[in-house]
Amino acid sequence: MTNASNTQSKSAALYERAKKVMPGGCSRNAILRKPHPYYAAKGEGCYVTDIEGVKRIDFANNMASLIHGHANPIITKAVNEQMQKGTAFTFGTEQEINFAEHLCSRNVGFEKVRFVNSGTEAIMGALKAARAFTSRPKIAKAEGAYHGLYDFAEVSQTANPNNWGDVANPKSIPVSHGTPQSTLDDVVVIPYNDAERAIKILDKHKDDIACVLIDLMPHRVGLIPANADFIEALYKWTRANGALLVADEVITLRSEYGGLQEHYSCRPDLTAMGKMIGGGFPVGALAGRADVLEVMNPLSDTLLFPHSGTFSANPVTMIAGQTAMELFNKEAVKALNALGDYARSTISDVIKVADIAACVTGTGSMFRIHLKETPPTNYREAFATAEETAKLKILIDHLFDNGVMLISTGTGTLSTAMTKSEIDHLAEGLLSGFKKLA
Ligand code: PMP
Repeated sequence: MTNASNTQSKSAALYERAKKVMPGGCSRNAILRKPHPYYAAKGEGCYVTDIEGVKRIDFANNMASLIHGHANPIITKAVNEQMQKGTAFTFGTEQEINFAEHLCSRNVGFEKVRFVNSGTEAIMGALKAARAFTSRPKIAKAEGAYHGLYDFAEVSQTANPNNWGDVANPKSIPVSHGTPQSTLDDVVVIPYNDAERAIKILDKHKDDIACVLIDLMPHRVGLIPANADFIEALYKWTRANGALLVADEVITLRSEYGGLQEHYSCRPDLTAMGKMIGGGFPVGALAGRADVLEVMNPLSDTLLFPHSGTFSANPVTMIAGQTAMELFNKEAVKALNALGDYARSTISDVIKVADIAACVTGTGSMFRIHLKETPPTNYREAFATAEETAKLKILIDHLFDNGVMLISTGTGTLSTAMTKSEIDHLAEGLLSGFKKLA
């Protein structure tokens, strides 16, 4: 497989057109590569072919959202059938109810569910529901964690050594210029996986915190599963202080049949979902305690959180999502996680053979390669130095030129369309890439 990264390529030409009509030539920064993004011609199973005709194994899976890879025939058929009947109505559809029943059946904590169109919206809905339920203004979140674009949820997502402050008191750092100070003041930032410091910080705001928002394996924080004692401490703190625990399972839902929360002894009050539950279409959902979600009930006398969305629960997303999730049954989850174990152990073996300062984190069907000697345990440890970032880019480009696409952070996500043979191909590319770095 060859890399057609030159100024004459069709992708380079398309990007010239794109830059004239979109800032940066795109609508989502995740597609950017230097010197230009690549444009997809088609996807089949775990492969994507670009418009130059180069085929690669896709470990990005549209940022962890395509649990069955591309163009799964069963999902495609179900969607095609729905498309003939219409795609969106100012009516309810049975598809919405079917899918709500299915999602609720996957986890006893999902007593009720409400659909939206993205993970961002699901997080926004969960935070607003928590505020409405508790009548409190503040939310707490872990430093470095990505939860989408909602003003409050994005605080400190890009904190860096120059601005993050003392670890015992991480600063609320804005992502977008112009974020109001009042937003920053209403976000309490805690260090990930550090129960003692986190609790001390939370205590300072205990009468004002509506919820603690937590991703149980935040990608940007290093793809490190949360320690049980950290989650239990947060849970106990929320019980003692009248706050809610909100889990962001937009990515991690793929880790177990009912989400990564199955690994912990406590149950979140609300869970935000997205990505894979759309079966390849835009989606989000918030699920959890019926009494909490009652704040969204338009039939109640005191509707505390009115909520709507033009395309929420459209039948195309619902049918695609339900088909995908039904295919991702308990056996499929187990098999994919076993493939994840194989991937992480294979990558560890390659690191040993290459004798390079690197390590692998992750659980279930995801892995992340860090160019660090030992696995990080929090955002500050996971933060890549300029040298690591430069080396990682060389590695990611090398893999790309050798037919393997990872996410630019060194993260890979598996799909049920993959087998050990794709992992072995990744391992070969990694070995030659590590040699290049050495
Ligand atoms: N939460 C997490 C953990 C995510 O990874 C993402 C997307 N990368 C989001 C929320 C936001 O989802 P969306 O891009 O669908 O808005």
